[in-house]
Amino acid sequence: MSGPAPAASPVRVAVLGAMGRMGQAVCRAVDAEVGLALVAAVDSGRPGEPVGVGGLVSAASPGVLLDAGAQVAVDFTVPAAALPNALWCAGHGLHCVVGTTGFGAEGLEAMRAAFAPGPANCIVAPNFAIGAVLMMRFAEMAAPWFDAVEIVELHHDGKLDAPSGTSLLTAQRVAAARGAAARRTAPADAAADPAPGAEPAARGQAVAPGVHVHSVRLRGLVAHQEVLLGTAGQVLTLRHDSLDRASFMPGVVLAVREVPGRRGLTVGLESLLGL
Ligand code: NAP
Repeated sequence: MSGPAPAASPVRVAVLGAMGRMGQAVCRAVDAEVGLALVAAVDSGRPGEPVGVGGLVSAASPGVLLDAGAQVAVDFTVPAAALPNALWCAGHGLHCVVGTTGFGAEGLEAMRAAFAPGPANCIVAPNFAIGAVLMMRFAEMAAPWFDAVEIVELHHDGKLDAPSGTSLLTAQRVAAARGAAARRTAPADAAADPAPGAEPAARGQAVAPGVHVHSVRLRGLVAHQEVLLGTAGQVLTLRHDSLDRASFMPGVVLAVREVPGRRGLTVGLESLLGL
């Protein structure tokens, strides 16, 4: 006799940094999502209001994740905590979704090595807003057609790292796209600054060959980025604005659902979106 198929068990999710700005939004999003269950909400233990969405706020070690039977940990903490948290997850067989930014290329390589043997996987994305992922892709597509690219990233004044992880990844992709195009056509001197006499601080930081990033920190902002591409007689401006932390939630939920099936370390949401 056949009846309706039994409902699949929900994916058991723990949130690290649960009392932070992003962590609270992630707890609410996971709690509201069919097929996901918030089983632990862990923070560094400062006094404050509980997140109040059915999770458990704890100052305890990450061992609380094992006690709660978590399958996926979502990290929105601080750069100094995100890497040890991810390595701990790799060592204990927990899938990990990392949104924290600012732990550097070496940190990323350490994560790649830690998750390579399995069985746990990891998705790291400096920006979970699908519009921002598209902005990076559009910048990469446009870059070979323009002589110069500058990035202006603007964030709230509580952001710890600068330049932002999104601007760093955008700059790397833009530089790679320009480099690949230069190999097909005439080589361009991407590192040449068109304003060699300028005060260096006024030109932002050259984070990739020929790509300067300017970081604005201002109360009232959330997360914004402009990519300015210029060539003779024209400028193309790509701009993305996260006006609310809700903008990041569809990407976080997608990553939580996908991470068990994505072997090793995945950087960015592009492959999840089929870009
Ligand atoms: P936030 O409000 O400062 O929240 C961070 C939280 O993590 C705080 O409650 C902090 O507690 C807690 N924490 C620190 N160390 C911890 C540990 N070892 N274990 C557990 N919790 C710990 O910061 P936010 O604005 O939410 O941003 C968090 C991170 O996400 C930043 O790196 C930011 O750049 C990044 N971000 C990423 C995206 C994306 O789409 N990928 C979007 C927005 C933000 P204390 O205050 O007691 O230290």
